[in-house]
Amino acid sequence: MNDFQDDIYGWYLENKRDLPWRKTSDPYLIWISEVILQQTRVAQGTKYFHRFINKFPTVKHLASASEDEVLKLWQGLGYYSRARNLHFTAKLIVNDYKGEFPSEYNEILKLKGIGPYTAAAISSIAFNLPHPTVDGNIYRLFSRYYGIETPIDSHNGKNEFYKIAKEIMPTNNPGMHNQALMEFGALQCVPKSPKCTFCPLALSCYASKKGLVKKLPVKTKKIKQSVRYFYFYYIDNGKFTYLEKRMKNDIWKNLYQFPLKETEKELSEMEVINLGIPFGANMKANIKSISTKRKHILSHQILYARIVHVETEALDNFSTKYIRINKKDISKFAIPRLLEHFIEVLNIG
Ligand code: SF4
Repeated sequence: MNDFQDDIYGWYLENKRDLPWRKTSDPYLIWISEVILQQTRVAQGTKYFHRFINKFPTVKHLASASEDEVLKLWQGLGYYSRARNLHFTAKLIVNDYKGEFPSEYNEILKLKGIGPYTAAAISSIAFNLPHPTVDGNIYRLFSRYYGIETPIDSHNGKNEFYKIAKEIMPTNNPGMHNQALMEFGALQCVPKSPKCTFCPLALSCYASKKGLVKKLPVKTKKIKQSVRYFYFYYIDNGKFTYLEKRMKNDIWKNLYQFPLKETEKELSEMEVINLGIPFGANMKANIKSISTKRKHILSHQILYARIVHVETEALDNFSTKYIRINKKDISKFAIPRLLEHFIEVLNIG
């Protein structure tokens, strides 16, 4: 063990957070925690983790759930394909592996939705195998500590950082090693204002010695974001409203939403009114209000959404594409976070 590891392990034992997934070597629980933590910060992730494992304490429970139930528990986390993959893989583990999580890195890596990082986390923490987890925290720490200017989001950068991670990976307690490095990046060598003054690595850290802390790590790519305009129709029949299920390979697949019209450009209020009520030609209806637009940022898209509140008494010949629900049941459906806001404001349910 060199000084770098010695210092980080010492720091970790004193400073590590008391997190529920640190108290287990159950690969299922580690898998769930890792996927949740790819979506959100630890504080919010912990709540989701508890909710998820209370409902699905084992891979068998998850496998026997319906997809709607899984998506409902995932509601608000985003990247719903990850929840669908969890569900798919749980069923596969039950059917093809007799409910036992595979214990070899390469077998774990074959599972849908599990990439090299998650496979390394599960195999090192649950099965004590020496596979490095190289996440954003570790890229940042290595870049600063070793003074590496290769962009962390480049192909070369990924190879270079992985090589270092492999070289310093001990055979003894690899799970603790991975967690110590990630925790150090998450709490000590943070993106803005790292705590260099109180850092056990300060004397040997390249960026600290050379005044490069603010310049490292280097990133190249800027994510291109497309812009979309959503107009949701809240059809209000007093007791009932309508939802549709998003079936296409797009954001929020298999989640529920109010009937939607999407446009390529932003519409004025008058243009929204002129769109008419697109669902059910003979429907006697009245636009009660149109909300102000709400911006919602996803990793590759920026959405601008408005709610068109439509009051109607006649719902008989309404399109079969939509599901009629009692408004008070709306919370039973997995709904994108963007719509949750509107549902709250409109006091539905
Ligand atoms: S000295 Fe600063 S930049 Fe270097 S490892 Fe510590 S916190 Fe990170």
